Order: sequence, then C-alpha cells, then structure tokens
Amino acid sequence: MARPRWSAAFAVPFLAVTGLPAQETPASPESPFVTAHKGNFPVILSAPHGGTEDVPGVPPRRGVGIPPGTNGFFPFRDVGTEELADAIAAAVEAKTGRVPFFVSAKFHRKYLDVNRPPEFAYEHAEAKPVYDCYRGTLAAYCKEVRKKYGRGLLLDVHAQGMMPGTVMRGTADGKTVALLRQRFGEKAHTGPDSFFGLLGKGGLAVFPARLDAAEDPMFNGGHIVRTYGGGDFGIDAIQLEFGWTLATPKAVPGTAKKVAAAVDRFHQLYLADPKK
Ligand SMILES: [Zn+2]
Repeated sequence: MARPRWSAAFAVPFLAVTGLPAQETPASPESPFVTAHKGNFPVILSAPHGGTEDVPGVPPRRGVGIPPGTNGFFPFRDVGTEELADAIAAAVEAKTGRVPFFVSAKFHRKYLDVNRPPEFAYEHAEAKPVYDCYRGTLAAYCKEVRKKYGRGLLLDVHAQGMMPGTVMRGTADGKTVALLRQRFGEKAHTGPDSFFGLLGKGGLAVFPARLDAAEDPMFNGGHIVRTYGGGDFGIDAIQLEFGWTLATPKAVPGTAKKVAAAVDRFHQLYLADPKK
C-alpha cells in the first residue's frame, strides 16, 4: 500500500525547523521493498519484521546455516508492526510537531531478516540489495541524527506472543543505551523517567516490570539495536517488543499515542538539550 501521506506531511515541517534547502529532503530508498524517510527530530523508528510483500525471484528461506538458539531461524512476521510503526510516527508528529526518521520493511520476513547479520539474513543473491538498502539507510540515518543533534534514540519496533498485553524491553540489559546511562546515570535506563518507566506511567504494561531486573533473553535486543545502540554510532537504541494484542488494528491507535507521549517526554529529558 502506498503511503503518500509522508511525502506531503514531511516536507513542510522539515524545512521549517531545519531551514535546509529542498535538495536535502530525502530521496526514495533504493529498494521498492523498503519504506524510508528522513525526519527533523533525533528519534529513528525502525520496523524490520512487519512486511507482507513477496520479493520476486527470491524463494522463501530454509534456515540454511543458521545456528539454533534464541536468535535462530524464525521466518514469521511480527504481525501489525508495519502499521504500528506508521501510527507511532504519525502520533509523534501530532504530539511534537516533528517528524521522526523512519525505516520500515515492506518485504515478508520469510525472504530475508534484516535484524540479523548478513551471513544469517538471506539465502539468495536477489535479497542482498533489499538487506543492504534497509541496513544502509538505517545506518545513514543514525549517523545523520548523531551529526545533527549530537545524540539520538533508535526505537526498533517488534511484536511477540509470549506476553500478549505487555511491551518487552530489549537493550542487552543496558548495553544498547550505554551513552544515555553515561550521560544521565542508571535511572535514565531503569528509573520512573526512563523510556520504559514513561511507557508504564502512560498505561502500558512493561517487562521487566521492575525496571532494573534482567530482560528476557529471547527479546533482549537483536542485531539492529546491538549494532547502532550505545557504541560507535553515537546514539542509543531500544528494541520494543509489543505484545500482539497491542498491535491489532483496533489497538494500534491507542498504543501509538502512548508510545508518542513517552517519546515526547524522553526527548525533553534526554535529547533536546545537547549540553545536558
Ligand atoms: Zn521482530
């Protein structure tokens, strides 16, 4: 489905806030299977597992060479997360007047998994350009956010069925938010005004419920947040594993609004003032 909303909604606030010339507005991503646009706000949304589209010429993966374990072969979609990421982006814009950077998969995960290192992400040469587009765009956006704002937050949107009504946190137990913790202390990761503290205060059930407890090893952060968060890219990253009941068509607007409120507050507390 086309989303013309973005081309129209994006250009005006981007130019108004940054004053950048028109040629700085984003080009289309190089792959038709990736939705992406730049923003004017130090938050990057990524949704790698929600897509539904076939990739012509690419057979479904069979799990060849993928070692078993918590991050083993899993070719199934995170149902509803493509729509949820769209709704979060729109809700953030409604709440803040600013547009987050955005990268979302249109392709079905059975053809490639962009939340894996390339050697485990795809099995067919035709899938490589799609992988490279998703990850290359995301890496470029992380660098751009770091350069423009001095810091930033990547939110990687997923869904899970283990705790249906709960959002599970994935930060590799704090590693992917190392820069945040260095600047603001542990409370910025595990306190009431941490991102998950804010989600909880906004009415979403969160895991770990005690925010300083260990994350679930199945959902504690995949290759995307571990690559871009807390290290060389100069930004932090959190994997959001939404319980599936939070990502149904009926639930998405309410979920998105709660996430946007947390994003807005988090931005005020930790991102807006680069001197803090
Ligand atoms: Zn996922």
